[in-house]
Amino acid sequence: MSTVPEIKLVFDEPKQRVKPPRHFADLDPQGRKDLAVELGIPAFRANQAAVHFFTHHNDDPETWSDIPKDMRALMAEKFTPKLMTLVRSVTADGGRTRKDLWKLHDGVLVESVLMSYSDRTTVCISSQAGCGMDCPFCATGQGGLTRNLTAGEITAQVVAAARVCDAGELPGGPTRLSNVVFMGMGEPMANYNAVMRTIRNITAPQPDGLGIGARSVTLSTVGLVSGIEKLIGEDIPVTLAISLHTPDDELRDTLVPINSRWKVKEVLEAADKYADKTGRRYSIEYAMIKDINDQAWRSDLLGRLLKNRNAHVNLIPLNPTPGSKWTASRPEDEAEFVRILETYGVPVTVRDTRGREIDGACGQLAAAEVTSEV
Ligand code: SAH
Repeated sequence: MSTVPEIKLVFDEPKQRVKPPRHFADLDPQGRKDLAVELGIPAFRANQAAVHFFTHHNDDPETWSDIPKDMRALMAEKFTPKLMTLVRSVTADGGRTRKDLWKLHDGVLVESVLMSYSDRTTVCISSQAGCGMDCPFCATGQGGLTRNLTAGEITAQVVAAARVCDAGELPGGPTRLSNVVFMGMGEPMANYNAVMRTIRNITAPQPDGLGIGARSVTLSTVGLVSGIEKLIGEDIPVTLAISLHTPDDELRDTLVPINSRWKVKEVLEAADKYADKTGRRYSIEYAMIKDINDQAWRSDLLGRLLKNRNAHVNLIPLNPTPGSKWTASRPEDEAEFVRILETYGVPVTVRDTRGREIDGACGQLAAAEVTSEV
């Protein structure tokens, strides 16, 4: 009898991820009250905590003077556990743009960017650590998805930004955080529930949320039609932004790979339905990439696609990622692109390039940090 050598199968241990601590911002207002009761704390204390956190942007129960001293440590542990620590902040534009790099409890890095303008202050937040959408021009996409953020972790970025505004750390003194855009790392529609909980935390009036109007919140997506359709069923008219980047499926299959699942036509039809339901104009995000998607014929095609739609085009000069062969369009091509779109009556703006020198808004600071750690 021949002996068959034993084949030993060796599997890698699945990576053990420690879940982020539960935070009361992960819960809806009733859930927060239930949590209080579970902890043996009267339910109304959940409302007091919410006022401290969402209205006063204070996440340190030790300073909550209306909470009995012997209750504060428990609330610090169970209501507002520390979810992230600031690794560093970098500023640009005379301090009017500030990018914060955060380390989460498991060492994962995410970033948020605060931008102050004459009429508003906007924070750009991350909804995932990394991103699974694989768009080849985006630095975040190159690293793949690490994990979804919790509602607590996404909300904490907003509350931290509001605190910076209150404290007068931006030029011009104390101000109010007025806008939130989901244009940092990640695809918000791929982390739907946590993003919706966050949107409710942002938009709910005191005491349950920050009281920022839904119109001042922008959700930017690659065009996950299933997510857009779900959003239509919610009662929150946030501003929807679609990262289209080209009007034709052939190129979009490469630039935004999820296009192989939902085509340009389907994405625009879903956005139209959203606009019909909410009465809100949506934005089309379009990174202008030299000789790739910036030809006059593409502008013409985009104009024809959008002329009867409730949409606005936001052109973004490409912010080249390190090592990329792609670069931003020539000014004359950009101007021609705008001109053609305007002949169709399509409203178009060119986004300013805030924070370029600090790698604004494209996952590059987190990427640089990881590289230097390695
Ligand atoms: N995943 C979402 C939101 C994150 S990115 C989305 O894709 O919409 C926010 C916007 O920045 C998107 O329109 C994205 O396509 C764009 N973007 C990503 N990398 C860029 C780059 N290198 N230059 C210019 N815009 C970029």
